[in-house]
Amino acid sequence: MTAVKPNQQIVEKISARLKSVNALIAETLVACGRPAGSVSLVAVSKRQPVEVVQAAWAAGLRVFGENYAEEAQLKMEALGELPGIEWDMIGHVQSRKAHLVANGFNRLHSLDSEKLAHLIEKFREPGQSPLEAFLEINVSGEASKSGLPGWQEADWPGLNTLLIRLEEIRSIQVSGLMTMPPLQEDMQENRVFFRRLRELRDYLNEQRPERALRELSMGTSSDYPVAIEEGATIIRLGEALLGPRPLNK
Ligand SMILES: *Cc1c(COP(=O)(O)O)cnc(C)c1O
Repeated sequence: MTAVKPNQQIVEKISARLKSVNALIAETLVACGRPAGSVSLVAVSKRQPVEVVQAAWAAGLRVFGENYAEEAQLKMEALGELPGIEWDMIGHVQSRKAHLVANGFNRLHSLDSEKLAHLIEKFREPGQSPLEAFLEINVSGEASKSGLPGWQEADWPGLNTLLIRLEEIRSIQVSGLMTMPPLQEDMQENRVFFRRLRELRDYLNEQRPERALRELSMGTSSDYPVAIEEGATIIRLGEALLGPRPLNK
């Protein structure tokens, strides 16, 4: 673990951003009649150096979202002892990286195949509680986006069947849905996609009320107010909290 003190200048910048993000979240929740505290934050730290994550922890952030398994491992080694720190995998996991994701992460937002669930089952250390996971859904139909197809209602019964099959896998507990819609100039353009994810969640919960999905992981720096209005319970913010990302890692 790093013995170096957090960089105070970065801590102050992140604290200021966190304050305005929290203010906008609170204001949005009031405006759409949702209870205070019904949205939680993941600070997306992909491509950010250890120094920035450490400063973000000092500013009060606890849950960090990473896209690349190896990069996340380096940060876990450096910062994993910080009290209360948690790591969420939010990026696509290739099969050959599944063993790196099966342990050490708190949640997997990007469960996008039954195969990945089986690999996690294979590699998760015995005796651990199940890994909390969200099914990643492509609700926009863009070919370039990852996630299981869910933009047409015709796809939804198949997703329900998948959920039932995933219940057999003891090392994974699916508790929600996640989506990553296209980057838009105007955040309102993503409203239809956030709404579709919520409608899909409601559909799935009608099919299996005894195993209702609670979480909707949706909304990034550029569109989180709209995601909250459409029911997000978890928003994933990178630049709005941690500042611009370095271009290359
Ligand atoms: C990068 C990323 C984010 C955060 O993006 P920002 O625009 O920095 O808020 C959220 N979710 C996923 C899956 C990402 O890859």
